[in-house]
Amino acid sequence: MVTEISALGDDDLQLLQDRDGDARDDNVTTWLPRDLQPLHYRVAIQPVLQEGNFTAPGELEFTFRARAATDRVVINVRDLAVDEASVAVEEEGPSGTWRSVGVLRHEYNASMETYAAVLQAALRPGRATKYRLKMKYVGGVRDDLKGLYALTYPGENNAKRYMALTQLHPTNARTMFPCLDEPQHKARFTLAVARRPEHTVVANMPLRASEPRADGWVWDHFHTSVPMSTYLIALAVFDFKFLQLTGERVTQHDRVPVADAVTRDVSVAFRNASRDSSRDVTTRVWARPGLLHRGEYAARIGPRVLRFFSDMFNISFPLPKQDLVAAPKLMFSAMENWGLITFREDSLLVDEANTGSRHLVATTVAHELAHQWFGNLVTMTWWNDVWLNEGFATFMSQLGVSHVEPGWRSEGVFVLENMQGVMQDDALPSSHAVSREVYRVGDIDNIFDAISYKKGSSLVRMMSAFLGADAFQRGLNAYLRRHAYANAAQDDLWAALTEAARTARRPGGARLPPGQSVKSIMDSWTLRTGFPVVDVVRDYCRGTANVTQRRFLVATASSVTTATSTTTATTGSPSAQDADAEDCCWGVPLWLKTPRNLFRPSKPTETLQWLQTRGAEVAGLPGSAQWVLANGARAGFYRVNYDAANWRLLTEGLDDLSDLERAGLVDDALALADAGLLAYEVPLGLLQRLPRTEPSLAWVAALSWLAKISHLLHGTHGANGAQGSSSAFSRWARGVAADLLRVSSSAAVRASTDPVDHAFVTRVRRWACGLGVPECLGQHAPHAPAARLVFNETDICEGSTRTPEEWSSLLTKVSKEDSNLYLKLAECIQSSSAARRMMEMTFMEDENDQMVSDLLVRLSANPHSYDTLMQFLTENLTPLLDRHGNGLSYDFVKSTAPFVKNDDHQNKMKKIFLKSNLNDLSHRAEQGAHNIWWIENQAEHVLKAVQVFVQ
Ligand SMILES: [Zn+2]
Repeated sequence: MVTEISALGDDDLQLLQDRDGDARDDNVTTWLPRDLQPLHYRVAIQPVLQEGNFTAPGELEFTFRARAATDRVVINVRDLAVDEASVAVEEEGPSGTWRSVGVLRHEYNASMETYAAVLQAALRPGRATKYRLKMKYVGGVRDDLKGLYALTYPGENNAKRYMALTQLHPTNARTMFPCLDEPQHKARFTLAVARRPEHTVVANMPLRASEPRADGWVWDHFHTSVPMSTYLIALAVFDFKFLQLTGERVTQHDRVPVADAVTRDVSVAFRNASRDSSRDVTTRVWARPGLLHRGEYAARIGPRVLRFFSDMFNISFPLPKQDLVAAPKLMFSAMENWGLITFREDSLLVDEANTGSRHLVATTVAHELAHQWFGNLVTMTWWNDVWLNEGFATFMSQLGVSHVEPGWRSEGVFVLENMQGVMQDDALPSSHAVSREVYRVGDIDNIFDAISYKKGSSLVRMMSAFLGADAFQRGLNAYLRRHAYANAAQDDLWAALTEAARTARRPGGARLPPGQSVKSIMDSWTLRTGFPVVDVVRDYCRGTANVTQRRFLVATASSVTTATSTTTATTGSPSAQDADAEDCCWGVPLWLKTPRNLFRPSKPTETLQWLQTRGAEVAGLPGSAQWVLANGARAGFYRVNYDAANWRLLTEGLDDLSDLERAGLVDDALALADAGLLAYEVPLGLLQRLPRTEPSLAWVAALSWLAKISHLLHGTHGANGAQGSSSAFSRWARGVAADLLRVSSSAAVRASTDPVDHAFVTRVRRWACGLGVPECLGQHAPHAPAARLVFNETDICEGSTRTPEEWSSLLTKVSKEDSNLYLKLAECIQSSSAARRMMEMTFMEDENDQMVSDLLVRLSANPHSYDTLMQFLTENLTPLLDRHGNGLSYDFVKSTAPFVKNDDHQNKMKKIFLKSNLNDLSHRAEQGAHNIWWIENQAEHVLKAVQVFVQ
């Protein structure tokens, strides 16, 4: 059943906030004094979009109560010129009259980004008295993608068109209007925006009235918002048109209608909302002319995802409309502003030429829609809990995608995308905990990293798995209701989930260990850095296993380690593994599966046990002929290693496992071997048994490791200098790649929008063409002439055996504007002079930072261009940083670090670090140090192990 949250008056709002905020005043981190209780902002703003005049004069009326007897009204302001003569502070008198409270002087604090009206008399705290601050000010329509900013795009006949958009997260609302710009200061907002007649304005809430004035401007007045945080306010001023689903048809419209009755109070709509209210939410997709037709897919799935979340959270979407806007430029790939979500164009508009496009659009739309509840309705009290917002939206997104695209293998791709990469980062000694303190404004940007999103979402998935769907959903619902229109911290969520777990109706009740709470389990994952590797060593006679945990760490060149022998090494591990006793212990939900009940549908094939200490014994395991699999569905954020005999059983029993289970096994085995904890014979043995007949998640998981091994072995001959063994790996890899390439070349696979198929095709092609697999050269055109003028994405890499002249000639024929083709070429280019030309054209001449960063990724991953790239970056560092700003140096390091192979690369990397004043990136240096360690210690093992398969 879907239930409603009824509308709240100002007094209800105060109650909510009193309950929510004051109770833990002492614990709340805040930069603003907490003397004011914001109630309502009335903001009128006039964005001027004219060459030479990008101003945005505004007028504010801010209503509040006092929490303390203060004589200062302190409010955030950045880059706004306050018209001091217009400032007035007033106290509410009887029957709606307002009486002036004298303002003595105006104070500014640039570092705290505040303005203060210092008063003649102190304000009276308490609920009896309301105050308001009135002022005029002038802000700008900015050009840095922050706050209220201007954008241009080509209109008809390529004429330059202006538009304005907002990006107020995390602390940019204060550049658009003075406000208490921290997430816990929720209030209602009533916006009025001036526009030229040819423009449309869209805001969080529906349009209430349009008022043309004599000066040629039209003022659009919007309905008053629900109580919300300032960072979620949004505006768009443009001449876009929109698509909307009506019945079964998607139709195009020019203008937003004024909400039926101009006087309609939106809050009444909440109160009267029926069970089906979410079905009445108007969802619109906006894009610039020429691209709008690509919005049809989002217009179809948007309303369905919204209904799915309404049902899932058991709370209707509280706004009457949801706008989705495709922005020509946006700071993030998307931003979840309440009722007006902004997206980069590729994240909202489907590119039918790219089979991965639908998955990207569905995933991004679902992520942002999940935030409407988790983030917007209930907001983190302070930024340190951002991981929960992002982790949660990322996890929910996959459920939303599965709902609208049930034929896709989206869960498997979610697991891989969110666990595989981040586990590599998190295995480095300098990783950090998911939950981090935020002391400075700059810290807020730092916490939006892979650890927040990817590890965060994997931890949410783990929690939902051990609680079970029923308890998870009930706990979530209680949490969202309890804190609706207010704020909460992660402990509030843990409390609600624990209550739900303890009242679970199903047999066995909660799946928490006795005496434990969700908090006690989850704190071990969110406050502690890293994650464990669980060693399962079976005693086959007694039917037991000794199960232990320790932090999973990869070795680096500086930490001298024990090399792996050819037998399974459960003890011969890098010394860092055992370094710190404090690294123990995580509350590990241990899912164990055996083949015993595989063919008895009524019996569970998997049991959940808890490992909370360093080690424990598990009993009741099958005999020596049967395998044991732990964490098969990869619900737990940990890796598993086994004794040699069990690895053998699992390899032989591979056919009995699901694709996701195989993918997990392959990923674990390759990661353990990469870290020196397992002999390469094991993962290579698994890969030999993996069917090469259809695109599978297991191959997708394997391919990112195989590409890395190929890259690291490129140009090296193993520590023993034996070139023969290096080419043995190439021979084996070419054979595998050729088989997989045949699978990926079938018309059905190439046309499929299933994310596993897409990832498979992309990774196989990139790997195979990099290896110079003959089939990659094109069976029908054995030596594609470089002079061919018609290329498409799949055949640009044909002819990887081109001469340097042919590569250069090819490059002159591929336009940078055709970015897909251009980037594809970067994936396979084998001439360093041609690669260098690409770098010049893009890094030194291109304005488009997205293109720069996309090209960096491609040229880094291509072993033939990597050395040239490192050389180019260090040689041209100063002009590059001048041109693109320090922000891009982060991309330099992020893209190139995974492929560092030697001290020379590592020194170049450090040079980039130092020159660009980067901090917090020491883990990138560790990544390089790990590669160097791997080449010195592990390369030999992989070469030796592969010999068996090529003789
Ligand atoms: Zn998000």
